Amino acid sequence: MKKELIFLGPPACGKGTQTNKLAEYFGYPHIDTGSLLRAEIMSGSENGQIAKQFIDKGQLVPVWLVGEVIKTRLKQDDCKNGFILDGFPRSLEQAEILEDIKKEIDGNNQVDFRATYFDIDTNILIERIVNRRSCPKCGEIYNLLSKAPKIEGKCDKCGADLTQRKDDNEEVAKARFDTYNRETAPLIDYYKNKNVLSSINADGTIDEVWERLLEVIE
Ligand code: AMP
Repeated sequence: MKKELIFLGPPACGKGTQTNKLAEYFGYPHIDTGSLLRAEIMSGSENGQIAKQFIDKGQLVPVWLVGEVIKTRLKQDDCKNGFILDGFPRSLEQAEILEDIKKEIDGNNQVDFRATYFDIDTNILIERIVNRRSCPKCGEIYNLLSKAPKIEGKCDKCGADLTQRKDDNEEVAKARFDTYNRETAPLIDYYKNKNVLSSINADGTIDEVWERLLEVIE
């Protein structure tokens, strides 16, 4: 059955690392709205310019824009057998949009739709954010304290120069936590009430969290 997996959790809770691994494991596309929006910015499109103003302040990009980006992506052929959605939905309004998109792409077909919540104390996350580096080419994520690249500043997987996201600084990170608490956290109850939510303890090593994730997903 087609698997549609979505993930909730505060900024830098480890969702990106784990869902990248999960996408490889199942052979599904990993669809991450943050990366899609950053690609829009790099392309210089009008939507990218609009998105940038919100991302730089740690706020949610307007729902019409992110809805358009995600709908286009989920309609692509590689999503037919399943997809992993990281960073969408991020508000109740976006969850309703996802329902509409699902109706359009799945019709009456049965799908295995599940939400997984990465439960973690947010106090430890600011430090993670300021030490995060990522590969702009293959998407691999590093942490200077817990998962440093073998050669400083270079991606272990593809050798590209690692970058630090502009919004990965303390000031914008604080705004992103506020946005998360206000807009995204209510989705935990929303999906709990629909009986599709699993929670995992996201405090641990990459391998420990991976084991916990497989237990609830497989
Ligand atoms: P992320 O890479 O998931 O940390 O997202 C980085 C930024 O992109 C967020 O702080 C938002 O400004 C924007 N963004 C990502 N996903 C969404 C979404 N589903 N809705 C609105 N804005 C988003």
